[in-house]
Amino acid sequence: MARKAKAAPIEPSAAPEARTSPPPAAPDAALLDPPSSAPEPGANRPVAPQATSAPRLEADRSAAPQANAADLLVWYDRHRRDLPWRAKPGETADPYRVWLSEIMLQQTTVAAVKPFYFRFLERFPTVEALAEAPTDAVMQAWAGLGYYSRARNLHACAKAVVAEHGGRFPGTEAALLKLPGVGAYTAAAVAAIAFNEPAAAVDGNVERVMSRVYTVDDPLPKAKPQIRALTEALVPRDRPGDFAQAVMDLGATICTPKRPACALCPWMRPCQARAAGLQEAYPRKVKKVEGQLRRGAAFVVLRADDSVLLRTRPPKGLLGGMAEPPTSEWTPDYAASQAMLDAPLEARWKRLPGVVRHVFTHFPLELTVFFAKVPRDTAAPDEMRWTPRARLHEEALPGSMKKVLVHALGGLPNPSPHT
Ligand code: SF4
Repeated sequence: MARKAKAAPIEPSAAPEARTSPPPAAPDAALLDPPSSAPEPGANRPVAPQATSAPRLEADRSAAPQANAADLLVWYDRHRRDLPWRAKPGETADPYRVWLSEIMLQQTTVAAVKPFYFRFLERFPTVEALAEAPTDAVMQAWAGLGYYSRARNLHACAKAVVAEHGGRFPGTEAALLKLPGVGAYTAAAVAAIAFNEPAAAVDGNVERVMSRVYTVDDPLPKAKPQIRALTEALVPRDRPGDFAQAVMDLGATICTPKRPACALCPWMRPCQARAAGLQEAYPRKVKKVEGQLRRGAAFVVLRADDSVLLRTRPPKGLLGGMAEPPTSEWTPDYAASQAMLDAPLEARWKRLPGVVRHVFTHFPLELTVFFAKVPRDTAAPDEMRWTPRARLHEEALPGSMKKVLVHALGGLPNPSPHT
């Protein structure tokens, strides 16, 4: 699970756990030998501070070896994931690609990001190309990844890198942190991976690993400063970028949320949660309060020339700047029986059976869909437009609104390979 995005309610990713591959089947730890001990640590091996933990674990802790970067890097050199944005051993990382991938991976899985990443790079191969692109083109290339505030910040960041840094990403965590949409994690990750700065990049995977290794008993998010301090203490001066990626890989492939494969873990011996048999109890979390269900109506109008009525949402707020068929307000007590008061134009409306459901980060939504056909000469109401059905893929439609259109029209045209 990655850290939470800064923006207010936003679309969920394809899967709740970010930066993760499907968890491997965990072998039975009792049946496997522990990993061979790692080489002697270098002189710069950091020593992790003691974490807060339950008293009953103190005896084990004092006897167990300390987690260290050297053991993890030995494992990483053998088992690192081959990711398209990741420099191969001996190659220099491209800051633009590292930054782009880090923004895309927030709250989204590696598998979901890959096709978007390739398409995005094809359209915007450099930070200059991205900075110069129209906002609509950026939003359209992003559509489907969710969390649309990230796309707006991505565009703003590219413009800032070009305008303020001559098209070169700054190389320090502090300078990166000043860029639009670059938070503490992204700044540290880009500084470490692209510039080999000794920065501690702490995302959801890292929080999980560290909270288990040190049995951090405070729940998230209260535990964040402690986990950050524990991570910082482990960052090696010589390979900080590899260390950052190694912890991410460990969290994504071995120290998974469920059934971690502890027998394959380079930190199995020092891991306090594993020693106590409490791996899945960490990280501690405060139970989430689920958002209240909201309801609304969506109006899909098909003109006789096979065009669909759309509008653009306001630039700020939920799905800001995205396209949609007109909808009513979304409220917990919305009554579909009153929906005609919200219809965008006069027509013979047909209420379609069923509802379209979509889950946003902070609330689930149910939309009742109304459909109407209108004559060719029907004008679009103010601030709305007709988009030919065959060109709907060029609109920046979020996943929720694609569901509405599919519900009403029975499908959407496939985008060409270059869009
Ligand atoms: S030993 Fe298990 S719980 Fe501990 S860090 Fe490794 S995989 Fe995670």
